[in-house]
Amino acid sequence: MAKRDVVVIGGGHNGLTAAAYLARAGKSVVVVEKRDAVGGLAGTYELAPGFRASVGPDLAGLLSAEVIADLELKRHGLEIFPLDPIVSTPEGLTLWRDVANSVEAIRKHSPKDADSYPEFVALVDTLAAFLKPLLTKPAPTPDIQSGADLLELLRLGWGFRRLGKQAMHELLRILPMSLSDFLDEWFENDLVKAALAGPGLEGICLGPRAAGTAALFLYQRLGDNPAIAKNLAASMDAAVRSHGGVVRTGDGVSAILIDEAKLSGRVRGVSLENGETIEATQVLSSVSPRRTFLELLDPVWLGPSFVSEINNIRYRGVTAKLDLALDKLPDGCNGVLHVGPSLDFLERACDAAKYGRASNEPFLRAVVPSLADPSVAPAGKHVMSVLIQYVPVGTSIAAEKVIAALGLTDSVLHQHMWTPSDYEREIGLPDGSLHHGEMALDQLFFMRPVPGWSQYETPVEGLFFGGAGAHPGGGITGVPGRNAAHALVKQRV
Ligand SMILES: Cc1cc2nc3c(=O)[nH]c(=O)nc-3n(C[C@H](O)[C@H](O)[C@H](O)COP(=O)(O)OP(=O)(O)OC[C@H]3O[C@@H](n4cnc5c(N)ncnc54)[C@H](O)[C@@H]3O)c2cc1C
Repeated sequence: MAKRDVVVIGGGHNGLTAAAYLARAGKSVVVVEKRDAVGGLAGTYELAPGFRASVGPDLAGLLSAEVIADLELKRHGLEIFPLDPIVSTPEGLTLWRDVANSVEAIRKHSPKDADSYPEFVALVDTLAAFLKPLLTKPAPTPDIQSGADLLELLRLGWGFRRLGKQAMHELLRILPMSLSDFLDEWFENDLVKAALAGPGLEGICLGPRAAGTAALFLYQRLGDNPAIAKNLAASMDAAVRSHGGVVRTGDGVSAILIDEAKLSGRVRGVSLENGETIEATQVLSSVSPRRTFLELLDPVWLGPSFVSEINNIRYRGVTAKLDLALDKLPDGCNGVLHVGPSLDFLERACDAAKYGRASNEPFLRAVVPSLADPSVAPAGKHVMSVLIQYVPVGTSIAAEKVIAALGLTDSVLHQHMWTPSDYEREIGLPDGSLHHGEMALDQLFFMRPVPGWSQYETPVEGLFFGGAGAHPGGGITGVPGRNAAHALVKQRV
């Protein structure tokens, strides 16, 4: 293959986003994806004849509006179906997009909590509005190296100041708090607290009583409310191709190649598992930090302190997913169904995982994509996707237990369980971490993937890093891929 400007490693949604931006900027780009299909976790698979399910995520509310617009994803087939209600529970609590509707629903469970809810939402929205630019742009770094770094820090300080005294204090106080302490300050009803807490705990080996979980709750509130995306991977693939980029599937990268003539090393391309070599001036990896730096590169090019920091990244995947083809749906399955009636229940579900065991009574989040997008199931039938926590890597959980907990024993036509170990083997998620590295406070912002390297560059000249392991982290956002592509384009070659 002729020499390329850029090879992108991994065709997940971040790799495709990066490649589309690079191709749009005039670079000749090839994406190399190990699996036969594109999209990584954001791709789909055939659950059973006529039924399609997502490999990983079902909710795409965090997807960057800027990415959608810049890459013209809607023109390339992307469709977004907003969900409403946003949460419902088997105990009869329903939260809606509309705050007034939610207040009335909460009132049936606690009049006091119903009165608190609008003020709580207003505070969370104010804090989220401040945090949002932080999580869409590269992370400001305290290690000021240029006028631009200084300007970013000043902008951050100015934005913070503009929050006003009360919100400023609240933000600094809330970020390191546990979710349970934060919610206890506002609400009295267990069901209300648990329904709000659920999204903040997805993908992390932490219960609601762990310090820093309030920050993760705020992260989840940065996007729009839950929505189902149709054709996400296909539209990104089409965006890459529309700008002349090439997407290759079915070939994994086995090594990142270094031009050793340069003392400090500089990338010169990649080799593939089939023995082929692709020469390129720059390489952008969207696979995990572990795979990129410890498996595809000789650590000699990285230096001992960088390697040791990469080694210290915590992954701790604890999320399994059960996909179900259903003959019929029970009542009350629209929106996002949350099974886990109290903060105590959620904390106990996590307890087992702390000692490496799967939870006996897991927290469940079920979504029925076929209600929004009927094309994923035959007429009258449905696909349900159930996120299950906490199931640590190396353990599993009986599908029957989950099916019984959801009252679906008579409706299941086909099923497929993904454990964290399956995600590790099939997608390359280290320890099954669905965010390519736990989204804990000490592994976010300028500390992601490791302190000092949050600007998408790496110790190897010409190598960039832009998957979920980079700032701002996991979730269907497209932001790490977009920011890494911008950083790459800025580098003089
Ligand atoms: C069960 C589950 C539920 C989730 N739910 C949600 C949700 O509702 N909402 C949300 O926003 N997020 C959710 N997430 C998280 C989200 O899916 C991920 O954070 C995000 O998709 C990561 O995207 P990525 O492109 O960075 O990486 P990935 O999707 O992991 O893509 C990496 C790609 O690299 C490929 N690859 C690996 N090694 C090589 C190699 N050597 N050579 C070439 N290619 C290679 C892989 O095959 C893969 O295609 C969920 C994840 C899971 C697992």
